[in-house]
Amino acid sequence: MKQVNGEKLLASLGEGVKDIRGRLTPDAPMDRVTWFRAGGLAELMFQPHDTDDLVTFLKLVPESVPVMVVGVGSNLLVRDGGIPGVVIRLSAKGFGDLELAGENRIRAGAICPDKNIAAMALDHGIGGFHFYYGIPGAIGGALRMNAGANGGETKDRVVEVHAVDRQGNRHVLSNADMGYTYRHSEAPKDLIFTHGVFEGYAEDKAKISRRHGRRAPAPRNGPADSRKDRRLDLQEPGRSFRLEADRRSRLPRHDDRRRADVADALQFHDQHRAGQRL
Ligand SMILES: Cc1cc2nc3c(=O)[nH]c(=O)nc-3n(C[C@H](O)[C@H](O)[C@H](O)COP(=O)(O)OP(=O)(O)OC[C@H]3O[C@@H](n4cnc5c(N)ncnc54)[C@H](O)[C@@H]3O)c2cc1C
Repeated sequence: MKQVNGEKLLASLGEGVKDIRGRLTPDAPMDRVTWFRAGGLAELMFQPHDTDDLVTFLKLVPESVPVMVVGVGSNLLVRDGGIPGVVIRLSAKGFGDLELAGENRIRAGAICPDKNIAAMALDHGIGGFHFYYGIPGAIGGALRMNAGANGGETKDRVVEVHAVDRQGNRHVLSNADMGYTYRHSEAPKDLIFTHGVFEGYAEDKAKISRRHGRRAPAPRNGPADSRKDRRLDLQEPGRSFRLEADRRSRLPRHDDRRRADVADALQFHDQHRAGQRL
């Protein structure tokens, strides 16, 4: 695995890091974050304690240092070479909240799992969130990717999105500001979403429950049958890659075949979407 120098980057941030309440980890292994359990080191990983902490930290980081945010890594492939600069990984404590925010409205922190918002909506008879049951990501990723499934998508439910930019300024974006199209948002790339407010509609719980039934999550200690199809397929004529992941089996973290598959998949992606970061 390639060595990066996270300690040096951390030291360059100066005395201000003493005020940081979150966790700073130099040379953090990304294979512990990504769904496919592959990827090199993040030069410096920061897990902010809360939004204020995130703002304080971003003001310390020089503009020349790249910053990226990750959710639970279900739409992320990381090369063996790792990620230069800072990777922000939101903590469940500061960004995992989930609460009712008015009639048929739900406020969710950016690291709240998608399926939790679906479960809360079902509990309170709020329709329109069933599609989140089948998506293995967290809300920040859903807001960025306009995650959707089974006839529903994030853009149908978003009321407002709270975010912090690269300089540490706070923003509130409307649904229109997010510029949603299919699995894509035009919101500025540097924004780190901290939480979102979503709105559904009153619906009979039995009806919502039936929709969930199509892709209900596997029971905690039950058979992994509903997880069998958790894989990524990239295809072109005469060539295809399939990455399979089963979080339960936890294949060896440095499995060479998996790493080779990820490298192939990324090469494939680069050829087809040159210039765009996955
Ligand atoms: C087996 C499987 C099934 C899937 N099924 C579906 C499906 O049915 N529908 C669907 O839409 N997707 C699906 N996905 C893709 C993925 O789950 C979604 O795109 C999900 O929304 C990504 O969320 P995440 O937290 O894993 O984000 P990550 O993979 O960690 O990040 C994805 C992108 O979002 C950005 N991001 C993450 N958090 C934030 C934040 N707080 N602020 C700003 N940007 C952020 C990251 O920088 C990155 O660009 C599937 C993936 C797998 C592995």
